[in-house]
Amino acid sequence: MIPVDTLTDEASRLYENQESSLNKQSKRLRSLAAWQTAWDQAENGRWTHRLIPDISMWTVQNHGETSYDLTQFLTGHGGYRSYLYRFGLDESPDCPTCEGTAENEEHVFFACPRFKSSRRKLETELNTRLTVIRYMVQSNTTWDAVEAIVKRIHQQLKSAEVQWGHRREATAINAAQSGSSSFRVNS
Ligand SMILES: [Zn+2]
Repeated sequence: MIPVDTLTDEASRLYENQESSLNKQSKRLRSLAAWQTAWDQAENGRWTHRLIPDISMWTVQNHGETSYDLTQFLTGHGGYRSYLYRFGLDESPDCPTCEGTAENEEHVFFACPRFKSSRRKLETELNTRLTVIRYMVQSNTTWDAVEAIVKRIHQQLKSAEVQWGHRREATAINAAQSGSSSFRVNS
């Protein structure tokens, strides 16, 4: 299973290196443990770590593809104003409806009232953000359900951009993203 972009930084390189030197019988468990330790200590990708605290839970799953929308959600590197603001692509990092609150991935998916209806189905089945991934990896159905909601929220964000006329030209966004193709941006 190929992990999310953020999971492929120094933590996963450690995993690859360990894999070749350990004996066959225990190498998977030992490299998973080493990877987990590196993952717990990594400075980048803290949002992803909060969503996926347990690497083994993620690596054993075999449901669905980590699509564009899901990658944005899992890495927090998407069309959220606080992210765009860091690249100079938006004039403010704040949510347009929640004054003084940054529009980041956590706000969008777990707090902002704008997306309450999209979130409602998940909220009935999930209690906290820590269970989102646990739910998602259960089956193709639950994977698809999470992806559908993520996608719907991203579409709502995009239509809001048009409506409010935020400065987010596709070319500028593409330039920012190709400049960090592995999403290796310091949080
Ligand atoms: Zn808000």
